Amino acid sequence: MTARIAIVGAGPTGFFLAERLLNQTDVPVAVDLFERLPAPYGLVRYGVAPDHEKIRNVTRAFDRTAARPGFRYAGHVNIGTDLSLDDLRACYDQVCFTTGAQTDRRMGIPGEDLRNSHPATEFVAWYNGHPEFRDCTFHLGARRVAVIGVGNVAVDVARILCRTPEELASTDIADHALEALATSEVEEVMLLGRRGPVQAAFTTPEVKELGELAGADVRVRPEEVTLDPESEIDLAAGDEATRRKVEILQAYAHRIPTGAARTLTLRFLVSPVELLGDDTGAVRAIRLVRNALVRNPDGSLSARATDVAEEIPVGLVFRSVGYRGVPIPGIPFDEKRGVVPNAAGRVLDPTTGAPLPRTYVAGWIKRGPSGVIGTNKPCAAETAAAMLEDLRSGSLSRVTGPDAMDLLRERGVRYLTFPEWESIRSTEEARGKAAGRPRVKLVDPAEYLPSPI
Ligand code: NAP
Repeated sequence: MTARIAIVGAGPTGFFLAERLLNQTDVPVAVDLFERLPAPYGLVRYGVAPDHEKIRNVTRAFDRTAARPGFRYAGHVNIGTDLSLDDLRACYDQVCFTTGAQTDRRMGIPGEDLRNSHPATEFVAWYNGHPEFRDCTFHLGARRVAVIGVGNVAVDVARILCRTPEELASTDIADHALEALATSEVEEVMLLGRRGPVQAAFTTPEVKELGELAGADVRVRPEEVTLDPESEIDLAAGDEATRRKVEILQAYAHRIPTGAARTLTLRFLVSPVELLGDDTGAVRAIRLVRNALVRNPDGSLSARATDVAEEIPVGLVFRSVGYRGVPIPGIPFDEKRGVVPNAAGRVLDPTTGAPLPRTYVAGWIKRGPSGVIGTNKPCAAETAAAMLEDLRSGSLSRVTGPDAMDLLRERGVRYLTFPEWESIRSTEEARGKAAGRPRVKLVDPAEYLPSPI
């Protein structure tokens, strides 16, 4: 008997998991992949920077999965309203959540919510044409922008702010963002790292790219990339990629500015302690304290504030201090870590510690927001192994509930099938071809959603 499996969330992990489940013959399965938004691919469509088109090639593998017998896609379905958790449990032998980390972490400093201070993820979703963020506006009339954090998201944001209109014009950036960024008055983008260059979360290729921008000079203060003895110890014990990253940053400190229209400044060992507002409630400055690094009992190095402070005028702030998972109604949640408690993907009941029957997680909601897209492949494989093992063991009685797609139709929910999505994608690609771009994204669902039932 074919096992019926629901996956909730059609980002990369959802597809990696579907592939793993369908690409085996041991246990016959059918997979339905649900997505809240009409379009699939999650962060590959709405997170990956538009000037990193190559990373999007992974969608070709997702499309091959979608073509496998036993796979169905239902886009524009809200689990919780269109289908409840009880519906899923009645219709499917197993349910796996691959919902990612859908919100941003807070910094907890005064002024965080002043006007023109935004989570970086909002800007990313806006420039990538996410339907729920297409009406956002950002104060691109600001002369100096602070990006807090030095992870790869912060680097993406800084790079997009520094790109010339010509550089952006050949990408699939949303038209509204292309237009707004073309008239941007930003002269300086400051990336703010609370620890030193050895500890910076961004990866080496990303930091190298910052030195290759057509319209921006990269600037680093020599004293902020001169390593303290503890960082020297970590670097000596670290990997080649970190050594290369530090070398690149130290070389930036000796660059002579070319007089480019913009400056991208990388700062280290500084923590924002307050955003200061003007009398209209908009950000006017950021207050920073200088940090020293201290060794923790677990061996890591933390930033500790000194009493040296500075105040820098800024008109726009992006907080890029990491994503955070959001609770799934009816499913246990670890508030501290922002993940669903699990063992190898099996969701655990926090009171008994025992696995909840038929319920699984994979990706960022399972392990937290870390790693690159490909990191989710082994993570999904681990969950798939647990799911298949549970099916193989025969311990699960099979469900006899209705077909979930019938339920959706009965309820008048007009979900999007994969062939319908493929036709939308063809329109985007045809428009892109005509404009010398990979695609021109359709950002208003009203433009492409199929007519109601
Ligand atoms: P991230 O890599 O975890 O970086 C978060 C940054 O915020 C770190 O620099 C962290 O510093 C800093 N931070 C946290 N709390 C802070 C605070 N209170 N004050 C100041 N700074 C603070 O997160 P991310 O950039 O959101 O990226 C998420 C994941 O997606 C990462 O695995 C990333 O590599 C991946 N990603 C990859 C790409 C790519 O491959 N091109 C692009 C985008 C995202 P500490 O280190 O001191 O905590």
